[in-house]
Amino acid sequence: MAEPAESLYPSSLLIASFRQWAADYEALPVFGEGAILLFDLSGTLLCGHGQTSPVFENQLLKCVKNTVRTGEPAEEAAESGMLLRAIPVADRSEGTPIATLVFCIPVGADLEGRRAMLYACVLDFRNRLYFHFEEGLLRQAMLSQCAHDREAERKDALFIAAKRLHDQIDVPSVLKETIQSLESLYPDSAVDLLLSQDYASVDARVKPLVIKNAASDISARAFLEGKMVKEKGEDGVRLAVPLSGKQAVYGVLLMTVPAEQWEESDLSAFIMLADTAGSAFENAKLYEQSNVLIGELQLINELTKRLNQSLRLSEIFQFATSELLQVFHADFCCVLQLNKEISRFVVMSSNIPALAGEQFSTEYGFSGMVYRSKESLIISDYHAAGQVASKLMDMTASRSLIASPIMVGNDVGGVIMVAHRNAHYFSYDNYKLLQVLSTHIGLAITNASLHAEVRRMVITDNLTSLHARHYLNEQIQLRQRKDPCGSLILVDIDYFKKVNDTYGHQIGDRILVQVSNVITSCIRDSDIAARWGGEELAVYLPQVRTEQAYRIADRIRTRVEAETDPKVTASCGVSEWTFEDEKISPESLFYRADMALYEAKHHGRNQVFVG
Ligand code: GH3
Ligand code: MG
Ligand code: MG
Repeated sequence: MAEPAESLYPSSLLIASFRQWAADYEALPVFGEGAILLFDLSGTLLCGHGQTSPVFENQLLKCVKNTVRTGEPAEEAAESGMLLRAIPVADRSEGTPIATLVFCIPVGADLEGRRAMLYACVLDFRNRLYFHFEEGLLRQAMLSQCAHDREAERKDALFIAAKRLHDQIDVPSVLKETIQSLESLYPDSAVDLLLSQDYASVDARVKPLVIKNAASDISARAFLEGKMVKEKGEDGVRLAVPLSGKQAVYGVLLMTVPAEQWEESDLSAFIMLADTAGSAFENAKLYEQSNVLIGELQLINELTKRLNQSLRLSEIFQFATSELLQVFHADFCCVLQLNKEISRFVVMSSNIPALAGEQFSTEYGFSGMVYRSKESLIISDYHAAGQVASKLMDMTASRSLIASPIMVGNDVGGVIMVAHRNAHYFSYDNYKLLQVLSTHIGLAITNASLHAEVRRMVITDNLTSLHARHYLNEQIQLRQRKDPCGSLILVDIDYFKKVNDTYGHQIGDRILVQVSNVITSCIRDSDIAARWGGEELAVYLPQVRTEQAYRIADRIRTRVEAETDPKVTASCGVSEWTFEDEKISPESLFYRADMALYEAKHHGRNQVFVG
């Protein structure tokens, strides 16, 4: 019975109510020099107002005891004309005692009147007590209302934060939003976002997650176990919540909240926010990745299209260099091609003028490494790596490098090198992209090389390595459009049928090659020698007049006689055209040379005639 009453009306409430109430009674003459004392249900003095003489002690205790026992008022006469009256303070609804008030007043004339007044006093105290009691209840109710409001506010804020997080599609915004939401929800807290992935953020609160000591580090534990870890520290409540999406755990949200601000009921909301942040982060990451992929595909597509527009090797090398510099925002680029004849890499194009045409052994530097391994490579810091010497890196004071082989079939046909002055400049994605691009550049180079080879074959005579007749025709036509003049020499071996008959066709062929070589060595690079047909050869000499052509033809004739084995002689017919001619065409030029050749034959062979 006593217990619930005690818990309902605690001593503190009784004392506080009494103090306030008794102060109002001080001035009443009825008390005079007396006192009012408050006892709890067990008869222990809680507090008092006024003076009681120590001599009253025994009567006082007796009086209180009686009241506590009976629940009724008790009275004791004290010395010096004082009266002690104990009156229980009863509960308003049940009438059960809450406490005992003891009045020590002078015995006056109207005792009954005084008793009635004391009873009224007790009722008044009880009112005061209830007033306090209700005030307390009201305060509590208000407090819980406040807490409720605060929770609702938090929920709203969390909901808004979650919604805003979902609206973000780029990683930096998700990270910023997450931190800002937490900071506005817990203004005095410290928030850190630890990311397990390689991610450079401008925000100082975004840090790399380093797993060193999983046992003592709550962020490492949260990451490894994939669940929240909470710890009470000196600086407040420390929480580590994994930032996880559907595919992976991306990091840990680490927060320290001052102990007085932390409410356990916030926990689920906090976890929810971390979950939302995790999936928003994952979405943003995926979006970012797909954008990168789309960008790369567009780039590859564009590059391949442009590479295939040209079949000229020099253009392709040049284009590749300028494109690569742009794609990687690199400082330097250099494309090397393997020259099989000399087994050396030759710089085909570069934005470093000093490297133009440079040759390197297939053992040397990073191109040598790529050549041996047939693999791409990435150097984050040339200073630190110190594996090999590199002219490219030394000359340009570069520190980062990505290099990739240009594969021609199964062999390394060249190497692409892209460099930057800063260390750690190229990402792994850059390295992968260069691999893909070098495949396409390699294909374009192979195509252009094949094309050049086919073209060379088409315009070259197999046996003599001189040009083919149609090429000579084309060139004469071309030159006749822009030059003022030109000459043609027709060379025909004398009695060649007989040579064939005597030595056989193979020897005949050999002589044909010998004569062709004589012709090639007698003319300049700008002159065009061709196999006109059978054993008839022709040379076109651009911007050369007959006199000079005659001298060249005669030199050919002399040297054929001197240098062929078995010895043969040759006859030559020379013709020329000038812009003043009425009719200018390769046909008429050939016709006149042929006529002159006929004359030479007719006049005994081994001669030069001008038509
Ligand atoms: P000439 O020119 O002095 O009048 O006498 P010729 O015996 O050379 O006569 P002609 O020019 O008419 O004969 C051409 C001969 O050259 C016919 C053929 O046997 C030979 N000939 C043509 N093309 C080749 C070739 O590619 N290889 C060889 N071995 N012989 C060829
Ligand atoms: Mg002949
Ligand atoms: Mg002939």
